[in-house]
Amino acid sequence: MDLELNGKVAVITGGSVGIGLAIARGLAAEGVHLTLCARNGERLAAEARAIRDDFGVEVLDVALDVTSPSDLNGLVTAIYARFGGADILINNAGTGSEEKILEAEDDRWQYYWDLHVMAAVRLARALAPAMIGRGGGVVLNNASICATQPLYYEPIYNTTKAALVMFSKCLANELIPHNIRVNTVNPGLVRTPDWYKTATIITEGTEQTAEEFLQGIADQYAPIKRFASPEEIADFFVFLCSARASYSVGSTYYVDGGWLNVIT
Ligand code: NDP
Repeated sequence: MDLELNGKVAVITGGSVGIGLAIARGLAAEGVHLTLCARNGERLAAEARAIRDDFGVEVLDVALDVTSPSDLNGLVTAIYARFGGADILINNAGTGSEEKILEAEDDRWQYYWDLHVMAAVRLARALAPAMIGRGGGVVLNNASICATQPLYYEPIYNTTKAALVMFSKCLANELIPHNIRVNTVNPGLVRTPDWYKTATIITEGTEQTAEEFLQGIADQYAPIKRFASPEEIADFFVFLCSARASYSVGSTYYVDGGWLNVIT
């Protein structure tokens, strides 16, 4: 299948580890040049170097915090200077939360709002004009199954991811006249290094291993009874970026091993 991605330019937030890194490597394998960003510049630079070595594509790596509007302005300037814009934007940076609504202060809500919603708003607003100039493009937002089916311990995560899905739908309606396709992916359980770290911390000093803990989570939530690998999610993103997904507009796709308990 020819994905017609060779030579395109993609921007991926949170491209240094986990799902974002797997998407970066998946797109690079198709000949896509990349801009990657994350806060930890050392880890980001190392992964960018590995992608250049492995796939021979151009990779611009920018260390920044996507919750900072001025950091995002710097990123956009760097993207325009290096590539003259972008064909693909993947809003992926994000993280889980843990709180009770009655105890969480405003600044916590504001942080996750900036991380999961405003970073996507600001980057889409800044990069869509260049996509229009290039004749079209793709914006993908990585939300979560939790946008629809909340986990009890992370109300701020659930709420801000739900807002991201609605933003994505509204943006899709606004941009499709310009041949820019906007969609959302809602992953379920994805086995990233962070999940393994959490499992290690929780099981330290107990009879249970980290592996057993993770299997217990998969057994509890996912009918498929396992986590996805980041690459299994990335493959779906790469397809949605491609010309083979040309009629996919304004949709939300669950890649969750059957975890979603309703039909939508
Ligand atoms: P990881 O923690 O493995 O990676 C997150 C990436 O985002 C890293 O590159 C991280 O780098 C970057 N990042 C985090 N915060 C910021 C910030 N403020 N500014 C810039 N970069 C940031 O996460 P996953 O791969 O697991 O998750 C990726 C996305 O997928 C998230 O939005 C998450 O909500 C979603 N998701 C994940 C699921 C899972 O099971 N793993 C399930 C459903 C959705 P650094 O720390 O250096 O900034």
